Amino acid sequence: MHDDQAAEKLAAQKLKDIRSQEILPEGLIALVEQVLPLTRRARAEAHVFLPAREAMASDDAMFAGSPLLLRHDFPRDMDQALTLAPPLLDILSASGPDAAEAAQTLRQAIAAGELDLRAAFMALIDGDDALLAAWREKLPGSPRALDFIATTALAPGLAAAAALLGPLLPPNHPHEHGHCPLCGSLPYLTLLQGKEGQRFGVCSFCGFTYRVRRIACVYCDEADQKKLKLFRVAEYPGVRVDVCETCGMYVKTLDYREMDRDCLPPLDDMASVALDILAQQQGYKRPTLSAWGF
Ligand SMILES: [Zn+2]
Ligand SMILES: [Zn+2]
Repeated sequence: MHDDQAAEKLAAQKLKDIRSQEILPEGLIALVEQVLPLTRRARAEAHVFLPAREAMASDDAMFAGSPLLLRHDFPRDMDQALTLAPPLLDILSASGPDAAEAAQTLRQAIAAGELDLRAAFMALIDGDDALLAAWREKLPGSPRALDFIATTALAPGLAAAAALLGPLLPPNHPHEHGHCPLCGSLPYLTLLQGKEGQRFGVCSFCGFTYRVRRIACVYCDEADQKKLKLFRVAEYPGVRVDVCETCGMYVKTLDYREMDRDCLPPLDDMASVALDILAQQQGYKRPTLSAWGF
C-alpha cells in the first residue's frame, strides 16, 4: 500500500463485501470501519525504540527457533496506546447498546482507579490472560470490549516496531516453525503469495508477515501429510482452511494468487468468517483472536 487513499479505497471495498454477506453484525462492521483510519494515522505517528542488538536473540539462537525478542521486551508505544483509549471507547460506544454499556463501565472503572489501562495493556503484551479474563466476566454484554481496546490501541506501535525489526532477521533464516520470528506469537492467518505460492504467516501480536512451510501445521509443526487436511467452499474462492488432526487446530489460508486483489489480512479474516464457522462446526479450534481482539 503506497498511499492513504489507496488503502482507504481497498478497505472500503472489503467492508462492502463483508456487509453484503450479512453474517457479522452491523455494529461490529461499523466499529472496524471507524477504527481503521484512526489506527492508520497512529501507525504513521508511532514512536518506538529498539533495544541494542546484543539484547536480542543471537543469530544462532534464532536458527534454533528463538524469536528475536520476547513479547515482554518487544518495542511498543505505550503513551500512544493510552492516548488512543478514549477515542476507541467513543467508537465502541457508538456501535450498539451492549458495546455502549461496556464502554461506560470501562470509563467508570478507569476514573475510579479500578482499571489501570497500562496494566491491562502490559497483561496483553505479556500474554497474561487473568486480568483481561476478569473483565470479560464483568462485561457480559460485550465481553471482549477490553481485549478490543488493548489490542487496537497497541497495534500501531507494535506494527511500527515489527517494520523496524524485520530487517534484523538473519539472512536465510529458516522457517521450520509456525511462530513469528520477531516476537514468538502464533499467526492468525496464513497467506499464499508469489509465483511459486510461498506461504506466509501473519502474526497475531505484532502483525509481521513471515515465511512458513508450505505443508506443515503452523501451530504444532506437524508435517505428516496424512495428518493435514484442507477444505474449500465454492462461495469463497481463494480461501482454504488448513486443519491439523494432530493438534486439532485450523488456520485459514488466503490465496492471494487467486483472489486477484491486494491483501489486508485483518479485513480478509472478517470477510472469510463463514469458513471459521464451518471449521468450528467440525470441531477444529482457532487458537488466536482476530486482529481486533474479538
Ligand atoms: Zn510477531
Ligand atoms: Zn497441528
